[in-house]
Amino acid sequence: MIAKWENLTRDEIAGLDKSKTIVLLPTGATEQHGAHLPVGTDSIILSSLIDLIVKKQNFDEGNLIFAPQLFVGKSNEHMGFPGTMTFGTQTYYSLLHDLASAIAKSGFRKLVLFNSHGGNTDMLNMISRDLRIDLGLDVFVFDWWFTPFWDKGLKGLKQSGKYGVFHACELETSLMLAIRPETVHMELAVDEDPVECLRDNDYVTILGPYTAGWKTKDVTHSGVIGAPTYATAEKGRKLLDYAVEELHNIFAAFLKTNY
Ligand SMILES: [Zn+2]
Repeated sequence: MIAKWENLTRDEIAGLDKSKTIVLLPTGATEQHGAHLPVGTDSIILSSLIDLIVKKQNFDEGNLIFAPQLFVGKSNEHMGFPGTMTFGTQTYYSLLHDLASAIAKSGFRKLVLFNSHGGNTDMLNMISRDLRIDLGLDVFVFDWWFTPFWDKGLKGLKQSGKYGVFHACELETSLMLAIRPETVHMELAVDEDPVECLRDNDYVTILGPYTAGWKTKDVTHSGVIGAPTYATAEKGRKLLDYAVEELHNIFAAFLKTNY
């Protein structure tokens, strides 16, 4: 079964076989995405993908329950651009810990932090271990920015260069053109690589291997990091189809991973 937490009754939640159920806590963001995309881009992509999974997929292996989504995350790197909302580090940590604790109190044992925003990832990886230790949950982090998730889906689709997919980019703009085209202003889209000191060297770039604690204004003038002019709705639709299928496999792997 695949369902949203909010649509289940108290007794339905109580009756779920907890050994075969994963609760997914969706973590989005509200932050500037250049001139051409709405500030809700990360959250809109995540909630649309969840709606597609609920509508299109079956999960015979067990139950997937999507908890209410967080539409704000940790986006302080984008402050200085209008429209960005963020929790502070301590607030976000406490919020996630409180929600995971409530999920554990309902008897669930497996939690997936289901993330669409790169600025949340460090926090999710860190808190996943704390939640394991504090609450006894099996906790998994699903993140698509610092994993190969989209590389696989972008094979044969991506046309931009090395830094073309990062923020408000070919990927996110294609997804938004497929999901909510009326909010995308392609005539305002500009491509921008990261500043010179954070690209094209063997050591410190925005893609690593060694990292810097940059804020977005250090890296880009337009607020875009990537190449949105390569985006199309057709690419977005293919990427969504890929994501729905691939997530099924990943969730099944989480369910099988018992330690
Ligand atoms: Zn984004």
